[in-house]
Amino acid sequence: MLMDSDRIFTNLYGMRDRSLRGAIARGHWDSTANIIHKGREWIVDQIKASGLRGRGGAGFPVGVKWSFMPVAANARPSYLVVNADESEPGTCKDREIIRHDPHALIEGCLIASFAIGASVCYIYIRGEYIREREALQSAIDEAYGAGLLGSNASRSGWNFDLYLHHGAGAYICGEETALLESLEGRRGMPRMRPPFPAGSGLYGYPTTVNNVESIAVVPTILRRGASWFSSFGRPNNSGTKVFSISGHVNTPCVVEESMSIPFEELIDRHCGGVRGGWGNLLAVIPGGSSTPCVRGEDMRGAIMDYDYLRNDLRSGFGTAAIIVMDKSTDIVKAIWRLSKFYQHESCGQCTPCREGTGWISRIMARLVSGEADIDEIDLLYALTTQIEGHTICGLGEAASWPVQALIRNFRGELEDRVRRRRGSVA
Ligand code: SF4
Repeated sequence: MLMDSDRIFTNLYGMRDRSLRGAIARGHWDSTANIIHKGREWIVDQIKASGLRGRGGAGFPVGVKWSFMPVAANARPSYLVVNADESEPGTCKDREIIRHDPHALIEGCLIASFAIGASVCYIYIRGEYIREREALQSAIDEAYGAGLLGSNASRSGWNFDLYLHHGAGAYICGEETALLESLEGRRGMPRMRPPFPAGSGLYGYPTTVNNVESIAVVPTILRRGASWFSSFGRPNNSGTKVFSISGHVNTPCVVEESMSIPFEELIDRHCGGVRGGWGNLLAVIPGGSSTPCVRGEDMRGAIMDYDYLRNDLRSGFGTAAIIVMDKSTDIVKAIWRLSKFYQHESCGQCTPCREGTGWISRIMARLVSGEADIDEIDLLYALTTQIEGHTICGLGEAASWPVQALIRNFRGELEDRVRRRRGSVA
């Protein structure tokens, strides 16, 4: 269990003063210039040593990503872009950081930008986050007013500007290259890779795109030390993590905990247990809507980290957005609802995704009512394998994996439903 003294986000619930004065009292903006004076190489090495992996879903090591940026100072600008699009169903962790602890993010933007040689950073916030945008903009204005941003930011000798860009509410703009397109004023459509953003990103210049939480934890890691951060969790899965837990638990919440915390401990300690008790648990989506669902009995012994969920449960840690479903859930309908979502959010660029997501959602609708043929279950599975891995961006996988997991874990339920309807019709 994570001690209060080890929490990075000390105002996650908005119970304290979120203004600059309150943030400074809670330890933010403490000797920021000294951190910057230690140099780019030191900062990148510390982040690598801390084991911090990207908190936006992919889990790529943050320090390694930063090291892809060109080192030599030249006339070409570089950019840091912070992905605050947070649109994955079930995920609501960055929202709490943005509205209640915005200075953790802003200070992180300054230090991370310096580390990758960027004098400008853009935060791209999702269209629906209106109050969050207001809170963040007011914190940015405060930071400018206090000389923490702008020329000679925080008296570090580094000139740094931070802009907040408000999106228009499309899920696909959370994909990093679609986000860059949108930021440049075009439709949010993912780009083919390569080139990767570190080579050619925003306006064609070297760019690093990181998630809000990944950046907001950076100042505390550098102050308290890489070994402090890496002391939490298992090797290769280190640090603290903000979980968002929703669905059929007694008290849904957002909470910062240690990586690799056992699933049962997390739910019992912070959510008051599963509604109706552990015996009433049907299934869990462990990392946001695109990660494969897991049967309740398989989830009970789970360790909440990247490696366990991928290797032992064929699912994913994703954004650590846990959706708990008890036995009152119509699991087929729940996954159909996700299929509808991905169909709606497909940008339509590639045929397998544009056509396939609609096809998935139509078969799923017939499975919900039991009108489909049993043969269509295998057809549906085969269809998802034609989408997965054949598209420009990850939305193809996001639409395929939940359905594949449904068939893998709940095939009996699907078949029974078809037979029940046949029986009732006959
Ligand atoms: Fe667009 Fe879907 Fe292709 Fe991604 S996979 S680029 S969302 S059509």
